[in-house]
Amino acid sequence: MTVTAEKGAIPNKLFINGEFVDAHKGATFATFNPATEEKITDVASASPEDVDKAVKAARAQMEPGSEWQKMKPRDRAKVMWRLADILTVRADEIGRIETIDNGKPIFESQFVDTPAAAECLYYFAGWSGKVTGDTVPVQENAFTYTLREPIGVVGAITPWNFPLMLAVWKIAPALACGNTVVIKPASNTSLSLLKFAEYAKEAGLPAGVLNVIPGRGSVVGNAIVDHPGVDCIAFTGSAEVGRELMARAAKTLKKVSLELGGKSPNIVFADADLDAASRGALNAIFYGKGEVCAAGSRLLVEESVHDELMSKVIERAGKMVAGDPLNPKTRLGAIVSKEQMDTVMRYIESGKSEGAKLVAGGERTDIGTGKGYFVKPTIFDDVDPQMKIAREEIFGPVLATIRFKDLDDAIAKGNATVYGLAAAVWTRDVSKAHRAARAIKAGTVWENTYNLYDPALPFGGFKESGFGRDQGKDALEKYTQTKSVWINL
Ligand code: NAP
Repeated sequence: MTVTAEKGAIPNKLFINGEFVDAHKGATFATFNPATEEKITDVASASPEDVDKAVKAARAQMEPGSEWQKMKPRDRAKVMWRLADILTVRADEIGRIETIDNGKPIFESQFVDTPAAAECLYYFAGWSGKVTGDTVPVQENAFTYTLREPIGVVGAITPWNFPLMLAVWKIAPALACGNTVVIKPASNTSLSLLKFAEYAKEAGLPAGVLNVIPGRGSVVGNAIVDHPGVDCIAFTGSAEVGRELMARAAKTLKKVSLELGGKSPNIVFADADLDAASRGALNAIFYGKGEVCAAGSRLLVEESVHDELMSKVIERAGKMVAGDPLNPKTRLGAIVSKEQMDTVMRYIESGKSEGAKLVAGGERTDIGTGKGYFVKPTIFDDVDPQMKIAREEIFGPVLATIRFKDLDDAIAKGNATVYGLAAAVWTRDVSKAHRAARAIKAGTVWENTYNLYDPALPFGGFKESGFGRDQGKDALEKYTQTKSVWINL
């Protein structure tokens, strides 16, 4: 198959059973470009009736003898590989869609997120047919073994910060294990996943295996969670919604995995390469406008190098200027929505009123058009760990800096959060690096770097950052169940 880089229309309907269809009673909602405040399109808004249709289509492909079940795992892998090829060749097209919908720089959507989504598909295509059970010696007159079976219909619900990439983190392992998927993207950013569905059809994914149904969380999300035809829930989003969803899933006793928020510590010791650490501190909090679950939103600095590090960090932050997200040179885009920008501004006000020292940003900015939801990279220094900006996830370009005395103090302050998604440590001392990696209660610990991900490496949270892992072979756990077979000989 030859994949061309042609550009088509942006799909705005529900994708159910391999077709783009209107929602029940033609319901729609508007989606906006946060950099221009202009409407992009009206998107079909799913109802419980549409969820039911999508689940039935997905269930049909789980039946014995269906096209999807009859396909050899290797052939499923070929479809996933073709889909990854299409993403790779059309990164420009889908990247632009993501950028106008989310406000993130095209540099990120085209050159980071889309290739990462493609890599995830390539990686999990390799697992197709390799998720196996064991033969288990139990006793002489028995042949006993386990089967790793697909769990069934996966109900996925995803957030707006990495709309395509985080959806693929769920879709790729689910398909590799032979499941089908009904997925609800975030209302702010439904478009890239609809485009992805179009590519999936072109790649040869049988109708009904992937269904994309945008719509309101409280309506579509709840209908997915409640539906008896959905076998598990894979959720990425806020702790608040995750908690609600888990309680709701208890009614039908569904297996749930939750990838939730964070308040990750980025810890710089005095012996670190301070140039690298200052670059890392900026990348940790300002990449993706700070709308990153693993953002290094708490910068913990050893007292003796506090002034030196902070002068570098503040100088670099001053050079980060918001720009048109479609300009390839832009590194700071628009906050996803007015609502989210207002939340960020409220946190900035709270930092000021609680007495933290504002040393950079702290206000909205614009890109010369007078439009768009842009916020300057904001840094608070001398933050007390009890302040709101040190405890709560802001999900925007706001950094809280806290001093520490030694390793024990750094670990205690780093762990003083309900979250446990990620952390980083900057030091040249190997022993300190390993001790910190063990002591930090988080699902990912970076050493002398930040924000590096790979489809082969599991990602997920400790504590209130959730449970279950995306990426890596651990992700396969979520999408399979083990059956024990006992044959009396
Ligand atoms: P959110 O408000 O929790 O929404 C996430 C998804 O849940 C959206 O699709 C949303 O739909 C849906 N939803 C909302 N209410 C629901 C309900 N009552 N039942 C079922 N679904 C419902 O989160 P967000 O604001 O989109 O994303 C930001 C959050 O995601 C942050 O906390 C961030 O840390 C977290 N996150 C975590 C990871 C990770 O891997 N750990 C990665 C990225 C983001 P609507 O859009 O229609 O409201």
